[in-house]
Amino acid sequence: MSNTHAAPLLFELSKPGRRSSQLPRCDVPQIALDQLLPAEALADVPPPLPELAEPDIVRHFTNLSTMNMSVDTHFYPLGSCTMKYNPKRNERLASLPGWLDIHPYQPDPTIQGLLRLLYDLQADLAEISGLPEVTLQPAAGAHGELTALMVAAEYFRDLGQQRGKVLTPDTAHGTNPASARMAGFETLTVRSTATGCVDMDDLRSKLDDQTAVFMITNPNTLGLFDSQVQEIADLVHHQGGLIYLDGANMNAILGITRPGDFGADMMHFNPHKTFSGPHGGGGPGAGPICVTAELGPYLPVPIVKKQTEDTGADIFSLDYDRPKSIGRVRSFFGNVGVLIRAYCYIRTHGASGLLAVSQNAILNANYLLGRIKHFLAVPHGDRCMHEFVASAEALKHDKGLKQPAMDIAKRLIDLGFHPPTVYFPLTVHDALMIEPTETESKETLDAFAEALFHVTGESAEMLREAPHTTVISRPNEVLAARHPTLKWSPDA
Ligand SMILES: *Cc1c(COP(=O)(O)O)cnc(C)c1O
Repeated sequence: MSNTHAAPLLFELSKPGRRSSQLPRCDVPQIALDQLLPAEALADVPPPLPELAEPDIVRHFTNLSTMNMSVDTHFYPLGSCTMKYNPKRNERLASLPGWLDIHPYQPDPTIQGLLRLLYDLQADLAEISGLPEVTLQPAAGAHGELTALMVAAEYFRDLGQQRGKVLTPDTAHGTNPASARMAGFETLTVRSTATGCVDMDDLRSKLDDQTAVFMITNPNTLGLFDSQVQEIADLVHHQGGLIYLDGANMNAILGITRPGDFGADMMHFNPHKTFSGPHGGGGPGAGPICVTAELGPYLPVPIVKKQTEDTGADIFSLDYDRPKSIGRVRSFFGNVGVLIRAYCYIRTHGASGLLAVSQNAILNANYLLGRIKHFLAVPHGDRCMHEFVASAEALKHDKGLKQPAMDIAKRLIDLGFHPPTVYFPLTVHDALMIEPTETESKETLDAFAEALFHVTGESAEMLREAPHTTVISRPNEVLAARHPTLKWSPDA
């Protein structure tokens, strides 16, 4: 099968003998490879590597990179993911040679600066969450969920309690029940009411002394703050259970309220969402978790600890001496590069700056909601936190579209906007989950609202086949995920 995309593969550009660099003539005696390595270690035929000059390679990858949308190139209102702009200074600071040249096996006394930064970040996250004990180790939000649930399991085992159930609302992110299953729990779904918040009667009917944890996202994935959260926490605590707060939506409540103050016992942060770390691309993330003092002893080792000497000097060290710990969940101290960026973001803003982040995120979302509700249904009302969920269901009937949210999302690409999140949360039909973030201007929000208005008025034909302007229009995403072609071969 030959490559039919607009950009040829490096293999197709290859010319035998072409090189990016030339090595100087060898000035030591040459030894044949089979004199150095046993025969079974040598390939019969050399691997079919592409042969190209440097500019061909640079242009190839640079051109490929421009086929993607990114926060640096486009407005990116991907709900739940908080695709805000990442200040470039955080990149520069995380790339300082003092960080880059550290080896993770260096003795503690030689990495005091790094340990101080990690210690201070632990303290900042404790302050922001209202939960005193912190680990920076987990490598993503979902990994933080899993770590916290393992901590909870160990806590109950230590108490001699058999609790096998984790409850999640029907609006929960898929990682919540998945993490619970991975940690060995059975999961039960708690319904939401028509207002989009937890159905207290349903919660009461499912909650018992077998319940280990109730996982709640607040504000939830509909962009609504569930003001019953304290009452929910009281109910769960009354049964001896714990509250886990999925912190993916912390961008809405920084400096406004704290999970530890509204009843959470454990939570994760997604620094790549809330603290402007780089997202995805297969790159590293982080998912620090914060827990109550009671759960602290079970956190993974090591934790960064501080001791103040008689001289007044602070000495930082990695504490492995934690007998109740669940052990390690990640090598070394977690994804330190991401944590440095989070630290820079938090310290740059300071307390009042973080509060302004959330206030502006809420303001932007409500502004956009106010414009969009006139032409797209927003089933959960006129006000939201940092995001809201519209429904494209009416376009099913009006235009005969089968998947109107998908069609709108794809068409927005033609107009220069990254699509919102679609078909999540599951409780809204044909959901378009829109999160503008605080880093966008009124002009950008207006342009997006106008593009969305334009798209909803277009013909079914135009929408069904969108995008029309991209190299690939609608790839088979399921096939691509199930049978990815990762290896090139000349006769494939
Ligand atoms: C992003 C997200 C997660 C998972 O976080 P990752 O860092 O992607 O693993 C969990 N819950 C919600 C609500 C999210 O938006």
